[in-house]
Amino acid sequence: MEQQSVESGNQPDEKENLDILVSTQIVIKEALKKLGYPDAVYELLKEPLRVFTVRIPVRMDDGSVKVFTGYRAQHNDAVGPTKGGVRFHPDVTESEVKALSIWMSLKTGIVDLPYGGGKGGIICDPRNMSFRELEGLSRGYVRAISQIVGPTKDIPAPDVYTNSQIMAWMMDEYSRIREFDSPGFITGKPLVLGGSRGRETATAKGVTIMIREAAKKRNIDLKDARIVIQGFGNAGSFLAKFMHDSGAKVVGISDVYGGLYDPNGLDIDYLLDRRDSFGTVTKLFRDTISNKELLELDCDILVPAAVQNQITTGNAHRIKADIVVEAANGPTTLGATKILQERGILLVPDILASSGGVTVSYFEWVQNNQGYYWTEEEVEKKLEEIMVQAFNNVYHTAQSRSVDMRLAAYMVGVRKMAEASRFRGWV
Ligand code: GLU
Repeated sequence: MEQQSVESGNQPDEKENLDILVSTQIVIKEALKKLGYPDAVYELLKEPLRVFTVRIPVRMDDGSVKVFTGYRAQHNDAVGPTKGGVRFHPDVTESEVKALSIWMSLKTGIVDLPYGGGKGGIICDPRNMSFRELEGLSRGYVRAISQIVGPTKDIPAPDVYTNSQIMAWMMDEYSRIREFDSPGFITGKPLVLGGSRGRETATAKGVTIMIREAAKKRNIDLKDARIVIQGFGNAGSFLAKFMHDSGAKVVGISDVYGGLYDPNGLDIDYLLDRRDSFGTVTKLFRDTISNKELLELDCDILVPAAVQNQITTGNAHRIKADIVVEAANGPTTLGATKILQERGILLVPDILASSGGVTVSYFEWVQNNQGYYWTEEEVEKKLEEIMVQAFNNVYHTAQSRSVDMRLAAYMVGVRKMAEASRFRGWV
């Protein structure tokens, strides 16, 4: 499962904006202004081109029928087909899916992929559903959106609480509808169904590269670094493993129920072994801390790898890390971004830091289209090149334009789709 939720423990200022669509629009507007684009470009890009709402009836195990609501947002397809994950979560809203589709456009722009952004979501709680019910929901969603998706239109992938099994059911359903095998319809599939080597660990690998590059800028030796990771889902758990294996000290981790802290470093292999498929492990321990306390621990590098709005104006003053790398989507509010910047903390923003997942999704799609599969080394080498270049572009833009890393990432991310929209004559 990719990422996972945690309880929110940080009371922001009363006037703090927690609406991720509104804050995304604020930064896009600023980025386009800095780049000198006319207002019409902002009017085009501030909302997705299309948002599809679907109702999905599923026969539950007790014989009753439950009707779920799902969304698919396609932000902008000037550059190419739209691309982005599908999340299964009780808190999914249309507005959230819209914002996430815009972030996917920005991510694909930053790592220079031939895609625009898309995102899907279903309001449900997979933790309380059986395998059979989840299969029915996954297949029902694909039937409902089949007209607007496809390998050259819009390509889904995993996101919060969805995984390769769910991608497999969705791919099978789409292939049945189209009456030919369509592996390129979706990414994040199991290897035996055309998945890519390295896709499962791609988000965490990308974050590892970001941590390394950011640490260089701050002269931090990763061998001595203390790292705190919020969230033990797909991104957080693999990241903990990679950092631990590279000799860094992972002193704190957390899941939806709380956190674990050991200033001498946690036994990550043991925790990974005991973790369930929803990224839960802390329930097994008596001595836990809250997610709120976890974020404020003394450390060198803090990685929020759970859900949005975790670092707010309510706790940004108390963050002790030198570097914050956002592996989750939207963990830091705009108000908190400003505070971290003023305090000299280096922030590697989500749309840059978490773009390793979609980058290897792109590799998966290319391999499906070619019918020719790469080695893990090839995938890793290509991912490394793309991520390092993306980091340097954003860092350089932040320095040369005297803007914070988030605005710099938006400037890099928005440029390609703005240009493509102009060349197509849309604006
Ligand atoms: N859900 C992931 C993201 O937010 C991956 C999307 C993809 O692979 O298309 O970046």
